[in-house]
Amino acid sequence: MSPGTSHAPADPGPAHGFIFIVSGPGGVGKGTIVNALVQRDQRLWLSRSWTTRAQRHGESDGAYVFTDRASFESRIAAGGFLEWTDFLGNYYGTPTPDPVAGRDVVLEIEVNGAMHVKKLHPEAVLIFVLPPSRDEQQRRLRGRGDPEDRVAERLQKALDEEPVGLQLANHVVVNDDLERTVGEMMQIIGHHRMLD
Ligand code: 5GP
Repeated sequence: MSPGTSHAPADPGPAHGFIFIVSGPGGVGKGTIVNALVQRDQRLWLSRSWTTRAQRHGESDGAYVFTDRASFESRIAAGGFLEWTDFLGNYYGTPTPDPVAGRDVVLEIEVNGAMHVKKLHPEAVLIFVLPPSRDEQQRRLRGRGDPEDRVAERLQKALDEEPVGLQLANHVVVNDDLERTVGEMMQIIGHHRMLD
């Protein structure tokens, strides 16, 4: 199966507000940022992805729906993903959203998925996050406890993703300081809501 959207018609599900995509290379702090955003803004609804990756030591049970390949593939066949991809040998996918009316969807996904969502929903707002430096990015990637060969793969993948993401992005934010970055992203979100 090749990554993309499910085989069902490209239906985002029930009427939704804005779609804010937070993407960026590995080790940039996307997860921490989106958690801070949804804590601060009750109108944001964070989509929980499915993955076939093993749960990391210390990773919360709610970080993903952790599943096996067969279940993931059944969901693809049933048209249950807005987008999905194969990232370094594991599946990751966004279930077709079912947000509460009046809320804006936040997707924290890699670049390939961001591209698929932008194709389906050109109005989706893509905020691409960059690391403050390569050193800091490497430090974060190493700090997750993955074996060294996985870290090297992820570093290379991060370098490959960056130029593609920069081309697609509506906004680019450098995550040099969490508080400042989240503030900047809240401003971007507020700006789009005002234009509506
Ligand atoms: P990790 O294994 O570090 O949790 O995630 C690997 C990459 O997959 C990250 O860039 C993360 O943003 C991305 N990712 C997480 N969920 C999804 C998803 O549902 N779809 C896509 N396309 N990427 C995802």
